[in-house]
Amino acid sequence: MDRRIYGVETEFGLAHSAPGARPLSPEEAARTLFRPVVAWGRSSNVFLPNGGRLYLDVGSHPEYATAECATLEDLVAQDKAGELIVDDLRRQAQDALREQGTAGQLYLFKNNVDSRGNSYGSHENYLIARRTEFARLVQILIPFLVTRQLLVGAGKVHPAGPEDFGAVRMGDDTGAPSYSFSQRADHIWEGSSSATTRSRPLINTRDEPHADAEHYRRLHVIVGDSTMSQTTTALRIGTTDLVLRMIEAGQILPDRTMVDPVRSLREVSHDLTGTRPVLLADGTRRSALDLQHEHLEAVRRFVDREGAHHDRVPWVLDLWARTLDAVAHQDTSAIDTEIDWAIKKKLLDGYAARDGLDLSAPRMAQLDLAYHDTAPERGLFNLLQRRGRAATFVPDERVQDAARTPPATRAAVRGRFIDAALASGHHYTVDWVHLKLNDRGRSTVLCKDPFAARNPEADALVAALGESGAAGRGAGDAPVV
Ligand code: ATP
Ligand code: MG
Ligand code: MG
Repeated sequence: MDRRIYGVETEFGLAHSAPGARPLSPEEAARTLFRPVVAWGRSSNVFLPNGGRLYLDVGSHPEYATAECATLEDLVAQDKAGELIVDDLRRQAQDALREQGTAGQLYLFKNNVDSRGNSYGSHENYLIARRTEFARLVQILIPFLVTRQLLVGAGKVHPAGPEDFGAVRMGDDTGAPSYSFSQRADHIWEGSSSATTRSRPLINTRDEPHADAEHYRRLHVIVGDSTMSQTTTALRIGTTDLVLRMIEAGQILPDRTMVDPVRSLREVSHDLTGTRPVLLADGTRRSALDLQHEHLEAVRRFVDREGAHHDRVPWVLDLWARTLDAVAHQDTSAIDTEIDWAIKKKLLDGYAARDGLDLSAPRMAQLDLAYHDTAPERGLFNLLQRRGRAATFVPDERVQDAARTPPATRAAVRGRFIDAALASGHHYTVDWVHLKLNDRGRSTVLCKDPFAARNPEADALVAALGESGAAGRGAGDAPVV
């Protein structure tokens, strides 16, 4: 497919800390955080005027799902806008707690593991053609995803070495403090399956296209780390989109099926050299670096032959190559403003050298966590970006704008409808494909085409709402910044 719809879902870690007092339970904290959302949308599961979705699922992890995006720039802007939106809620909740005399601080982390070892995800969604054989696609994609963490891992400190998660023991677990590429790798249990929680797979195969099921499928990748860095996010989606294009074009690729993808995922994550051999089903062993170089070369040849399908393809290929070089030469200086695990590693190395600490020091784990703090004034990644030590992919204004403005896809139809319904005081129900006014039995509009930024039926409904007067709540009350 020349064009693709992408969306990223982020589950945030929520914590309340009150030294000397009882902290709020996760449920209490989540309820406090979502009070303005419930007041606005009469539910803790809402679609926003920017086309995205904000909700509280089981486990008290607030989740923001970006609207459907068709460009890397929109995806990055919508994803970062989610951080602004949840941070705005955090500030409101903090004020409310202060007013009621509750001591302590609320924190929202865009990471993947909490202090009790629970993992929460960052799901990537890619629109793919139904005619592409799904089993083949998954088979080719898994070795790419297992090794992709070299590029787009968020990095993690392990104060006592790789944790033992029971099912997969790390062969060389010496207990020495270490750093891994990925946060999420240790928490994945299967290659692909339709479950997301119990037996967390790399790829979730539940078939919910949110589009015309005859033509499309939605690929649901759940192995990725939440990425703070805009450039890492763009690389994550940009490389995966290119590999998908190659698969969809029917390109013949060598079979790199792994004997045990889950074990390999963890081993690759815990080997910063990228050289540890991974056992393939054909009996050979290849390193993560080797496999990634092979993917990069195949994509380069593909792009040379077919042409670049968007103007950031050369950027994606360049950063992809530079990151593999950085791992190969064990020198991150060319990527340490662009790739999360390298940005964070530089920060940690700096503190370690200055204060004579190693990775087992509690301060290191605190810095790791603080990197993912979404609060602009506190979060270490945010601080680094402000100081020019983390690169951006889109300007700040574009991120701020994305908190209110949907991308030019189906999300724009949804955004207009939500604005109009709010302005006219109508109760409505929306999901990814439907728009409905609750008090008009037959007025459900179906939006099957996720690319279509206009929908005549929705336009007619919005026009009718405009005529019915503006007695209602303003869209300005929306939980957006
Ligand atoms: P769960 O939270 O249980 O994983 P889920 O993956 O079905 O559920 P949502 O949290 O609602 O869903 O998020 C759906 C994501 O898929 C959003 O980011 C959205 O932009 C994206 N999306 C919607 N329609 C499509 C589509 N047709 N193709 C690709 N992505 C889509
Ligand atoms: Mg979701
Ligand atoms: Mg999901």
